[in-house]
Amino acid sequence: MSDFNAAAFRQHFPFFTEQPEWIYLDNAATTHKPAAVLDAVGLFYRQQNSNVHRGTHLLSETATNLYEDARTCVQKYLNAAESAEIIFTSGTTAALNQIAYGLMHSVLKAGDRVVISALEHHANIVSWQLHCQRFGVILDVIPLQGDAASGYQLDLNAYNKLLSLNPKVVSLTQVSNALGCILPLENMLLAAKACGAITVVDGAQGIAWQVPDMQTLAADFYCFSAHKLYGPTGLGVLYGKREWLEKLTPLLGGGEMIEHVSFARSRFNQLPARLEAGTPSIAAALGLAAAIRFISTFDAEQIKSYKRLLLKTFHDGIQHIPGINLLSAQQNNAGIVTLNVQGEHPADLALLLNEQRIAVRAGQHCAMPLFELLAVPGAVRFAFAPYNQLTEVEQCLNALTQAVEILA
Ligand code: PLP
Repeated sequence: MSDFNAAAFRQHFPFFTEQPEWIYLDNAATTHKPAAVLDAVGLFYRQQNSNVHRGTHLLSETATNLYEDARTCVQKYLNAAESAEIIFTSGTTAALNQIAYGLMHSVLKAGDRVVISALEHHANIVSWQLHCQRFGVILDVIPLQGDAASGYQLDLNAYNKLLSLNPKVVSLTQVSNALGCILPLENMLLAAKACGAITVVDGAQGIAWQVPDMQTLAADFYCFSAHKLYGPTGLGVLYGKREWLEKLTPLLGGGEMIEHVSFARSRFNQLPARLEAGTPSIAAALGLAAAIRFISTFDAEQIKSYKRLLLKTFHDGIQHIPGINLLSAQQNNAGIVTLNVQGEHPADLALLLNEQRIAVRAGQHCAMPLFELLAVPGAVRFAFAPYNQLTEVEQCLNALTQAVEILA
């Protein structure tokens, strides 16, 4: 394991040498890819390209072995009990939809309750809503408390009250994509399990902050997207404990997921194939494995400390810029700053920053209900990754100062 050095880390990412004018602070939307990932994807298409699990030729056998090795790589990364507990999907959204659909069609009954939080991304709201009305399932939401200065948090007393209603499912994000705050997941999941709930974690933002240990975290399901962990787009992971994966009704039917098909009925395959209908994103799975091997060579705690330093430097600088309204807090934050310039539309600020080739996101960040609660129409999000440099933070602060002057 090498000591973390931000400048050396950045060297692994060709984007920054090929597009040097950009300061990329849209890392919560997607991250850039190290050469190791680009090479693994390129090598597959140049030399190994073949479909998996179906050919009788050597190329297909090689592709199958590489694809299954990628699954084992993810299994080890999450410390899952077996590789069959790792299902490849097209992303976190697809994984959450498979979980919601699968449980609604098998385990849940009318009158059952599902608990989510006020901090959820639309993917962990709408995936449940799609079925709640039809199946008569009730969706409860843990409210927010606190404020921007001390940090918004979930109201844990309200959560305990919701747990006293014996929900069947508790589905929570690990980190808020809109505010960066880290949920106290360990205890929240233990409390949910104590009430007999099935527990689901949306790790889309959390995976790049804290890799979960699936044998100690009280989560029955955990999902993430490869592209937010320096891997390719189009691939996600649905981890599930075998007993719960076995219960999920498949969302997609087709090739690979069956053991026997007749026109009268079909019998499903064993896990993991049962939940992977059709040709998977083979190259992207190899890319994710390369991303995991890459990031595993760095000390995760040092990466966290560095992200905290980026956050602190940005927060310290913001203090000197007039008219900034922060929505996110510095403490308990995985690397996201969300703010507005008083009286200005967030898109105007983002466009001014874009003119200086600073990439940020403006809007409601796929968390409309949260913004409604905060009573703000939207905000600009600065999301840091370990390849960001302190000099970029300074440049961003200067650009922000100028933008505020222009907007004033
Ligand atoms: N959940 C959270 C917390 C996210 O931040 C995102 C993406 O931004 C998603 C779910 C959806 O991920 P994807 O679009 O990769 O499916």
